[in-house]
Amino acid sequence: MSKIIGIDLGTTNSLVTVWEDGKAVCIPNAYGDFLTPSVVSFDGEEVIVGKAAKERLITAPDDTIASFKRNMGRKTLLKNKFTAAELSSFILKNLKADAERYLKEEVTEAVISVPAYFDDKARKATKLAGELAGLTVNRIINEPSAAALGYLKNTEKGRELSGDFDNHKLLVFDFGGGTLDVSLLETFENVVEIISVSGDNMQGGIDFDKAIAINYIKSLDKDPAQIKPQDYNIILEDAEALKRKLSEKKEASVKVNAKGYKGIMSLTMKEFAALSAPIFKKIYVPIQNVLRDSGNKPEDINEVIVVGGSGKMPIVQQYLKHILKKDKLYVYEPDKIVALGMGVYAGIKERDEDVKDVILTDVAPFSLGISTVNYTNPEKPLSSFIIPRNTALPASRTHPYTVLYDGQGIIKVDIFQGEEMYAEENRQIGSFEVNLHGLGKEGMLTYITFTYDLNGFLIVNVDIPDLEMTQEELFVDNELGLDEETVKKKVEQLKGLKLVSYEDEENLRIIEWGKKLFVQCPDNIKREISKKILFFESKLAEDRYEAIKLRKYLKMYFLNIEMTILKNLLENYEYDDSWLDEETRESDESFKRWEEDHKNDKE
Ligand code: AMP
Repeated sequence: MSKIIGIDLGTTNSLVTVWEDGKAVCIPNAYGDFLTPSVVSFDGEEVIVGKAAKERLITAPDDTIASFKRNMGRKTLLKNKFTAAELSSFILKNLKADAERYLKEEVTEAVISVPAYFDDKARKATKLAGELAGLTVNRIINEPSAAALGYLKNTEKGRELSGDFDNHKLLVFDFGGGTLDVSLLETFENVVEIISVSGDNMQGGIDFDKAIAINYIKSLDKDPAQIKPQDYNIILEDAEALKRKLSEKKEASVKVNAKGYKGIMSLTMKEFAALSAPIFKKIYVPIQNVLRDSGNKPEDINEVIVVGGSGKMPIVQQYLKHILKKDKLYVYEPDKIVALGMGVYAGIKERDEDVKDVILTDVAPFSLGISTVNYTNPEKPLSSFIIPRNTALPASRTHPYTVLYDGQGIIKVDIFQGEEMYAEENRQIGSFEVNLHGLGKEGMLTYITFTYDLNGFLIVNVDIPDLEMTQEELFVDNELGLDEETVKKKVEQLKGLKLVSYEDEENLRIIEWGKKLFVQCPDNIKREISKKILFFESKLAEDRYEAIKLRKYLKMYFLNIEMTILKNLLENYEYDDSWLDEETRESDESFKRWEEDHKNDKE
């Protein structure tokens, strides 16, 4: 049987591993390094990948692309040329070649890791990237599961513990170059189960680099907004070097050679910690989320596994020990542990005797449900979730519904994937009808069961006991296993298009809605609406993740105004948000602070 390779396709760096002599090993690239920078550069017809491409971030910034993993699953063309999946395929091709050189045989199969929060589209895009690189992707594994596997099966301490691993709780803190993922896993009888995941895909090591770089530019009395991209990239690289030095000692400095910005950039650890305070505030959120969602306290966690290059930073480790109340953390080759776990999984796939006994479960990265009647606004059916996000997979869940009226002829089942309250705002993945032959009666119970597995199969069962009727429908992920011709065609099509991402569309839509309401509403709230739109636009420019949270709040806010306008009750309008749920109201906190700061601005 030919070898299967394990791949950690990272935002900043990628690695390839293989299972050899009872353990996972990292394969070096052509430079002899284990880490291949996830950077692609174009020089005429030539595609440059990895270290050489990373160097071109400075010499040819317009033709060089990094951090594209953030766009996985979106149709946006980066630098007007390629999708994130296509760019990733160049990296995968390189890793495949490195593995073939090392193994001295052709490699056609791989397992690839992705962040646990990646949605269906992003996972499919990752598979597609593999196919474009000539690899059959055997399975997509969540990065935290891979990290746990690497820890349990490829380190001495993990192996020691795995004999006695009943009901252990592991928190995997994966802090890379551009993303932060926090996951809570439970292990029992060789099953590794993800219980809860949370993250921030706009937060990573690069944010420390930016904070240092901007601090330096300001210290020279220059405006960071005016700097040329070339100069900024040089300063960012220097900032990263300074940050790395601060992982070794309490104070450090580096020489900056960017034209017009020459000087010595230096920081003490304490100054660095102060500069990073806003980043730490954001790190706290996903940690709190996984603990709350899983009903755990810091004391319940047996082990904290630190993953990702940014996990090497002493201030990050100190902060983690503090908030998770731990004397020590498990930090073992943080930038290799996911890849090593993937190597372990490749071994499992090859049915190697040493590792055959581990079962990995996954969680649904999105909710699956159907649309149901909305009595207050029949035009906009509501979502009813059958398999909620974060459910361990494979899963089978049943939800009861009722027939609407006597003599009802059909039940239409529209299946959606996503988290939005209104069904139409989610992604529709299928639809079918159940013919009741006019025998439906108001209130008659109808059970709908979803069975979903990791390979993109969804089985939907409808069961109406009173009519002794059952119906089963199967939905198969039609984007899996595309033949080469279709893949080619699709890529060609995409290349010709310049598409706006779903998020961008949503953001534009909410701004347009606000503007429309501004025109329709009475004068006493016009100022408030325009302020909210402006605030949203400024958030979009500085922090898209926050902006998405704010967008949810604005949706509720605008909806409330729209309803009130409709009811013609606006004369003595006074806005009251006591009906909003806590989470939604929290997203307004930052707006209130902004409002406070701008209280004295001229109107
Ligand atoms: P990853 O995406 O996991 O490869 O993480 C890469 C990130 O880790 C980059 O932002 C690096 O600057 C950062 N990083 C790697 N090594 C260190 C280190 N020794 N100290 C501080 N940051 C590091």
